[in-house]
Amino acid sequence: LKKEGFSSIPNEKWEDVGGLEFIRQAFYHHIVRRIKYPEAYEEFGLDLETGFLLYGPPGCGKTLIAKAVANEAGANFIHIKGPELLNKYVGESELAVRTLFSRARTCSPCILFFDEVDALTTKRGKEGGWVVERLLNQLLIELSGAEQRRGVFVIGATNRPEVMDDAVLRPGRFGKHLYVPLPSPVERGLILKALARKKPVDPSVDLSTIGRMEACENLSGADLAALMDEAAMAALDEQLPSTESTPNVTSRTIKAAHFKQALDKIT
Ligand code: ATP
Repeated sequence: LKKEGFSSIPNEKWEDVGGLEFIRQAFYHHIVRRIKYPEAYEEFGLDLETGFLLYGPPGCGKTLIAKAVANEAGANFIHIKGPELLNKYVGESELAVRTLFSRARTCSPCILFFDEVDALTTKRGKEGGWVVERLLNQLLIELSGAEQRRGVFVIGATNRPEVMDDAVLRPGRFGKHLYVPLPSPVERGLILKALARKKPVDPSVDLSTIGRMEACENLSGADLAALMDEAAMAALDEQLPSTESTPNVTSRTIKAAHFKQALDKIT
């Protein structure tokens, strides 16, 4: 069981992520390859950014990407939920931040992932008050200590980058900003294919075509995951007898008709 704030190497792989190829490239150069070949980076005098901000609409894969990066790099992953860090440790939030970074250092290479990072870093003097203020100051101290941060990478995720304090967004902190957009029609197909790795989707189903359908417009990755689950449920309903005497006639796959049912339900 994974507990919040504790480290482990995630199971999520890049094959589980649909689309977002440019983000994969950026993280490959900035994190994965650096963890694998640190000497080469030193030899070439490359001292690149170690702090990243993923921003964009909810449910488009920010958490998933961060985990896949850790998996590919063979790095530990510590998942921090911004609002929880704030609430759980009122009064000792600075200590909590210090402890977190020191734990990350002891299990490096490590990716420290701050979900809803905006909660920790709202503009000083605005919402939040002194707890945020003190936590933010401690966070800035830890983020600026790049020298002691060897092998520790920080990734923040937010839907509201505009409320974040400019100080945390500077180079050397959450310095590299990557936009994670809603998927395009083609990317929706890729996401469905990634999700299909874990489901018995019938080979006759054309997921690219489903992804391009108008009914899928504006769906996020999370919405597509829900669609996939609905389709699986529809297939399962046919599969399992509703009474003991109903014979089991259909084959055990998710077919186009199930996707249609799921789409009707979702849209
Ligand atoms: P939030 O801003 O709400 O925290 P997020 O951007 O971090 O959202 P995730 O939590 O990574 O989004 O995505 C939620 C779920 O949606 C994932 O667990 C996955 O099932 C699905 N999903 C989202 N984006 C993708 C994607 N690009 N490829 C495959 N699955 C995706």
